[in-house]
Amino acid sequence: MKYIFVTGGVVSSLGKGLTAASLGTLLELRGLRVVMQKFDPYLNVDPGTMNPYQHGEVYVLEDGAECDLDLGHYERFTNSRLTRLNNTTSGQIYEKVLAKERRGDYLGKTVQVIPHVTDEIKSRLHEITEKQPCDILITEIGGTTGDIEGLPFLEAIRQFSLEQGPGNCLFIHVTLIPYISAAGELKTKPTQQSIAKLREIGISPHILVCRTEHPLDADIRKKLSLHCNVTQEAVIEERDVAYTIYEVPLMLHSEKVDAIACRYLGLDTPPPDLSEWSKFVQQIIFPSRKARVGLVGKYTEHKDAYKSVKESLTHAAAASSLGVELIEIDSEQIETVGAEGLLKGLHGILVPGGFGSRGIEGKIAAARFARQHNIPYFGLCLGMQIAVIEFARNCANLTDAHSTEFLPQTPHPVISLIEEQRGIERKGGTMRLGSYVCRILRGTRAYLAYGQDEVTERHRHRYEFNNDYRETLKSAGLVLSGTNPEGDLVEIIELADHPFYVGVQFHPEFQSKPTRPHPLFHDFVQAVSNYAA
Ligand code: GLN
Repeated sequence: MKYIFVTGGVVSSLGKGLTAASLGTLLELRGLRVVMQKFDPYLNVDPGTMNPYQHGEVYVLEDGAECDLDLGHYERFTNSRLTRLNNTTSGQIYEKVLAKERRGDYLGKTVQVIPHVTDEIKSRLHEITEKQPCDILITEIGGTTGDIEGLPFLEAIRQFSLEQGPGNCLFIHVTLIPYISAAGELKTKPTQQSIAKLREIGISPHILVCRTEHPLDADIRKKLSLHCNVTQEAVIEERDVAYTIYEVPLMLHSEKVDAIACRYLGLDTPPPDLSEWSKFVQQIIFPSRKARVGLVGKYTEHKDAYKSVKESLTHAAAASSLGVELIEIDSEQIETVGAEGLLKGLHGILVPGGFGSRGIEGKIAAARFARQHNIPYFGLCLGMQIAVIEFARNCANLTDAHSTEFLPQTPHPVISLIEEQRGIERKGGTMRLGSYVCRILRGTRAYLAYGQDEVTERHRHRYEFNNDYRETLKSAGLVLSGTNPEGDLVEIIELADHPFYVGVQFHPEFQSKPTRPHPLFHDFVQAVSNYAA
């Protein structure tokens, strides 16, 4: 069993998760079984209660864990099957330690960060290797070296590597090499200081991954090697990608990071076959046609708020050799400017998930515009609920139909809470979360996409299609093409006389892979492509 720890220095947002995931891709393609996990130093138990503006998208795993969006990278870049064990936060660690203290498990001792908190972190490392057997466990440490809250994690992995003995734990530090344009130079000082901080704790990284806008010349590499105590070949250049994040594994491979890691860890493996991956990247960079898709949301200013949705579109577009230009549209603006002005000329409209009433009428107007103008429409979770409300109001004569989330007193609650969600007051981890079975109705667009009678999809929502309105909406022409057999819940709705008008109560974006796009995203993009032709 070997371990790789990835830390970050100088600034946040360096793409540490992407670097770790790309290394995962390369090691898997070398035939190794890889498991990935993230340690997040913040005190929230999970990011489920955080606003997307704070933290970007909340990624949901099969078992219903609400996670950091880096776990999305791990699942897209590797075949690692992740569970709630794969994302540990300080909040979870402290929750455990405090529960033990209250039970009296520490037998009268003073409970301290070292050893009690660090032991709890190390026990997570042992637990994961027990439950998810693999050749290599890659652990990314969130935050930046020097953060107070990250210290217990760094101390724990230092102790852990000592216990594992030499040659079993590899430390990679992802750092920024800023370019000072006035001097026309790349600067190494912030990295030197970041490494000094790590060495204070007792960690001396073996590989330095340098995020940079400009190539590292031989002098810079030499200087970094000298001051940071890594060999020259282990100074890895990771330039900003020109086109797509999927170039990162190719870039890291050309810098030999996978070979260096395997050599250090004593793993004798053949080089990775990157032909399929390269082909996928080529398809993204050189599409044969172009189309414009509008993403109508309310967290549009945060570039990571709809991460998985954007990646899923990329996967599907590559498979159709289509270049999708994604236009992010703030739904509140539709309310003031009108749908026509903002949505005209689009070849597809996608309404993703969301919470709260801000911008809802704008989304309803977008769904209406797509329905009336035969523009391909794909609604995810809230986007499906919106489509139902719009259809009820304008096609089934249910004036003022709404979701009780936005208008509790609506005369026609076409979307409402199911019994088990009523009376829940705690917000954390109490939604309908994780994988559920969905039965697909034959002869529908959903069936055409999946080609299967039953699928499983991941959920994260409280409100549901209200079964009291099933017959009314069906007789007005709404097709209920997917249902959950246990709870008798509507999971997919669609329109028959439309090129593509599909809404799903689940989040298909959490199951799309680079070379295996999700069937519904695939067919949506196909419809977009046809519409643009
Ligand atoms: N707010 C809606 C609900 O809770 C939709 C949630 C979502 O889009 N993820 O049901």
